[in-house]
Amino acid sequence: MSNITFTMIKPDAVRNNYIGPILAKINQAGFKIVAMKFLKITKEQAAQFYIVHKDRPFYNELIEYMSSGPIVAAILEKENAVEDFRKLIGATDPAKAEPGTIRKEFAKSIAENAIHGSDSNENAIIEANFFFSQLERF
Ligand code: UDP
Ligand code: MG
Repeated sequence: MSNITFTMIKPDAVRNNYIGPILAKINQAGFKIVAMKFLKITKEQAAQFYIVHKDRPFYNELIEYMSSGPIVAAILEKENAVEDFRKLIGATDPAKAEPGTIRKEFAKSIAENAIHGSDSNENAIIEANFFFSQLERF
């Protein structure tokens, strides 16, 4: 059964002109784009999106970074989408990411790590609903 995951191409990757190459890897890996938008989120929106991390030492830095420039947000569909997409993006720290993963190729640091991927089916739905209405999904 097909499933969805949610992704963001983060501000560092947008600034570095990696939208095209990252989308190409996502397409090559067999994900269908169900919804997509290019937008800049506010600090308040970033704080809400990452609220599960509110007690972590990197929370404030993460909010500043995620609201520092535009992002590409998307819903992706594929069998086993969440797990397969986490494999495609690689470890949170690009230094630990496998060769060929998006973070290995396009990220420089654990903080500014190029791309987001949902960590569970439940969170994929919550995150997709945070960004997209039903009218924006195809
Ligand atoms: N992050 C950070 N320092 C850390 C861990 C995470 O700046 O030590 C940032 C990084 O941008 C990461 C995001 O916070 O992608 C969310 O962290 P999480 O542990 O959920 O990693 P992910 O699921 O994105 O791999
Ligand atoms: Mg996470």
